[in-house]
Amino acid sequence: MPTTLVTGATGFLAGHCVDQLLKAGHTVIGTIRSPQKAERLAEAFKNEVESGKFELETLKDVQDEVEFQVIFEKHPEIDYILHTASPFNMKAEDPEKDMLQPAVKGTTAVLKMAKTHAPNVKKIVITSSLAAIMDVSKYNDPTHTLTEKDWNPMTREQAAEKGNPFANYVGSKLYAEKAGLEFLNNEKPHFSITWINPSYIFGPGIALDMSALNTSNELIAAVLQSKKGQNPEGSAGWFVDVRDCAEAHVIALKPELDRRRLLLGTSAFCTQDIEDIANKIPQLEGNIATGNPANRDKELKTVCQLDCSETDKLLGIKWIPLQKSVTDFAEQWIKSQ
Ligand code: NDP
Repeated sequence: MPTTLVTGATGFLAGHCVDQLLKAGHTVIGTIRSPQKAERLAEAFKNEVESGKFELETLKDVQDEVEFQVIFEKHPEIDYILHTASPFNMKAEDPEKDMLQPAVKGTTAVLKMAKTHAPNVKKIVITSSLAAIMDVSKYNDPTHTLTEKDWNPMTREQAAEKGNPFANYVGSKLYAEKAGLEFLNNEKPHFSITWINPSYIFGPGIALDMSALNTSNELIAAVLQSKKGQNPEGSAGWFVDVRDCAEAHVIALKPELDRRRLLLGTSAFCTQDIEDIANKIPQLEGNIATGNPANRDKELKTVCQLDCSETDKLLGIKWIPLQKSVTDFAEQWIKSQ
């Protein structure tokens, strides 16, 4: 069975990638940078750690080529890589240092070092984002439709704009994806790449720290933490469940999907949907914000359309609906309170 390296294994999405790879029989090596988070992860996969099916390696800085070299030299058996590690937050103080460089140089570091020190690697799946596809100026236009073929037109200068953490994150995903494509075209490595471009990823975590939530689940947590009569900031977008997103990463290892971008968007959602779903959970019902169900359609009209039909055909996943994704996360959140 293959051996697969997962970068950023302590992350929300990566925990599920590790889980699904292990269930598919892979031996998994996860890179970690925080010993506390690593402990939670090792505890969640205790049996697999004990049996040697899951191993952790330190990668303090995803841009550090030497750290990658050390990992590849220690594990010449690595067949596949899922590169998920990249900063995801809306807090970059120094756009280059905090966001763009780790995303872009992190991508080129893993690709460069795999080319020179990981002769067995056949495929690298890179977690990109809808951010690399969407045109920010049309994101709120419900008549605008995005597909796998679209590219965000943001310039490198716009991506690095100080005081604009949203642009910094969006730009980090765009320019990381471009750097990977350029590497593939220019360097002609012995492996191929598939990019996964998810919209917001929701759902329960495997080793989630509820006191330091990942950025996307914060949207759900804002509703769960609200008080009756309050109005959490409304937002609308597209979502995919974290378990489906992880499955897409594993399916993407197939050679038929080489060089593809896979756009993941199960359905559009708005804050009202999250409020409606959360208010059906007995422990929350009547205690949290209810919003105004009459505004749902109006809220949904503030987001563009995704046409993921090409990806749907290639992956054949039966997508988990928003109802289950939000409920499963909410139940985990309630238990942690
Ligand atoms: P998390 O923040 O939970 O995971 C990010 C992972 O990257 C963490 O393991 C983190 O380490 C690691 N990481 C970040 N910066 C560095 C660095 N400089 N050096 C080493 N490791 C680093 O986020 P998600 O799981 O949500 O995101 C995973 C991937 O999916 C990211 O590439 C993100 O851009 C992408 N994505 C996420 C979406 C979402 O809605 N969640 C939507 C679309 C794309 P540590 O655990 O130590 O902090």
